[in-house]
Amino acid sequence: MDLVKPFPRPSPTTRPFWDGLNECEVQIQRCEGCDSWVFYPRTRCPSCLSDQLVWRKVSGLGVLYTYTLARQPTAPHFAKETPQQLAVVELDEGVRMTSTLVNVEPSDIVIGMRLRPYFDHVTDTLTLLRYQPG
Ligand SMILES: [Zn+2]
Repeated sequence: MDLVKPFPRPSPTTRPFWDGLNECEVQIQRCEGCDSWVFYPRTRCPSCLSDQLVWRKVSGLGVLYTYTLARQPTAPHFAKETPQQLAVVELDEGVRMTSTLVNVEPSDIVIGMRLRPYFDHVTDTLTLLRYQPG
């Protein structure tokens, strides 16, 4: 029997991020108090504590900051997906996000490689942001 995978549950704070992904758009927060990008979604800027955070559409393009090949599943739900290609992606705006790599062989993964979004529509209402070379 397959286990039901744990999926993100959008909150009022994170909802715009998830709604953007459903439309194949990457949106992150921009602080109007100090002009910095903010990710993960928050109610206050971690740099200046302003609550003037606005959502902006970005390209989603970035580079591979670091990665690991998880040969042991990180949870039973992912037993059929090993090795999991877990990645930290640094967007061109400077923020980093955890993701998974797709459409690339493990032997072709290189730190610093250019990456572009892969919008994985896992359900009618949830899209996960994965990354692929490009
Ligand atoms: Zn700020």
